[in-house]
Amino acid sequence: MVHITFYGGVAEIGGNKILVEDGRSRAFLDFGKSFGQEKLYFEEPFLSAREIEHLKVLRLIPHIEGIYEGDKEDYRLDGVLVSHPHMDHYDAARTLKKEYPIYSSEIARMVILAREWASSFNCLGNFGQLNKILGRTSRENMLTLSHGREAKIGDMSASVFPVDHSIPGAVGTIVETSSGNIAYTGDIRFHGGAAEDTERFVEEAARHDPEILITEGTHIDDFKVESEEEVRAKIADTLSRSSGLAVAGFSFGDTRRLRTFLSAAKENGRKLVIPLKQAFITRELHSVDPKSSIDIEDPDIGLFAREKKRLYEFEKCVLEDYPGKMLSKEDIREDQRSLLLLASLYDMNDIAKIGPGVGSIYIHSSSEPFEEEMEISYQKLHNWLDYLGMPLVQIHASGHANPFELKEMIRQISPKKVIPIHTKSPDLFRRLVSDLDVEVILPVKGSPIEF
Ligand SMILES: [Zn+2]
Repeated sequence: MVHITFYGGVAEIGGNKILVEDGRSRAFLDFGKSFGQEKLYFEEPFLSAREIEHLKVLRLIPHIEGIYEGDKEDYRLDGVLVSHPHMDHYDAARTLKKEYPIYSSEIARMVILAREWASSFNCLGNFGQLNKILGRTSRENMLTLSHGREAKIGDMSASVFPVDHSIPGAVGTIVETSSGNIAYTGDIRFHGGAAEDTERFVEEAARHDPEILITEGTHIDDFKVESEEEVRAKIADTLSRSSGLAVAGFSFGDTRRLRTFLSAAKENGRKLVIPLKQAFITRELHSVDPKSSIDIEDPDIGLFAREKKRLYEFEKCVLEDYPGKMLSKEDIREDQRSLLLLASLYDMNDIAKIGPGVGSIYIHSSSEPFEEEMEISYQKLHNWLDYLGMPLVQIHASGHANPFELKEMIRQISPKKVIPIHTKSPDLFRRLVSDLDVEVILPVKGSPIEF
């Protein structure tokens, strides 16, 4: 008998934590941070969970004794299988006992570590640290899974296949248990630059004839039809019309979007100017997979540092390695027409000092606000842009599949049961696929599903 228990991602977007138990073997599919749940209590950085206990008492992490660092009880866990390096899928794993293996693709491991090296110490535990004497260190049990190759996880076995999503290193997972196979999509899309990867995962999942398909359903209730190629064309068109500085904001980890920006910038004779954190993560990632990122050595790439008194270790690394690539505020001010500068709301003090000229534009290349806090930040960004005299243009393609694609995927994989997660509308999902020959199970947080 196999049990699947959902401890997160139930009627919420993100925070996936799916426990699979087969006899004495246990594995988690993802162990993500529940941003939505944590926000109900915390307000970072002033009020945050500084101890694992803070998350435990509020039931923001699963109530399982013996699983967390510092717990006295024993608890067998054969591993956490991370589907992709978005924090809502892996970040809470920092609270787990360090002896548990954390599996991911090699690229995902590098994104997680690079991000960790480029941030400060975390009270809840670290996946790795960067320091002058020890260099780049990582948690011992961060193991990688090769695409398509089976790995033993206790008495179960797991294989992963690359899928397309808004961050590199994403995989779909197939777990073979004593009661049959489980296929798990992680987060997927069919319209990005690597859509053929997702198609191949769907074929593999179908070939494994799964009992259960656990699928994301982020955009089941609300979606747009846009591809990465359309995004590229729109950015290029916008750049060609702008006669001043072009500034763009997007999600840091989406290094494929970074490629899109570089390509559109080149087409318009503009240099892409990126912040140091982006440069650091990009370089680390480029060292393991040149295809999913850009090469900082490219002559059309420049670097820009936010003005501040003290530099982080990772910032010093980048500055030491690429001294000739740094652009000052003055350089940017004088050469606005030939630059595309990546910057977010948090860089607006520096943008104001640069002083964008007439014809400057801001490209907002991540999702439009869909909750209150995002609305507030979005309004702040607009206030800055009004002050700076820069219109905002929204150009984005999402990291998630649309309802038609999800339905077609379920039809092709043809599992006996399907469980929608990572969606705010599980019931809508159930109705959408009610004409398919598949049983839909809506999970209840913390209640095991048996098969
Ligand atoms: Zn994701």
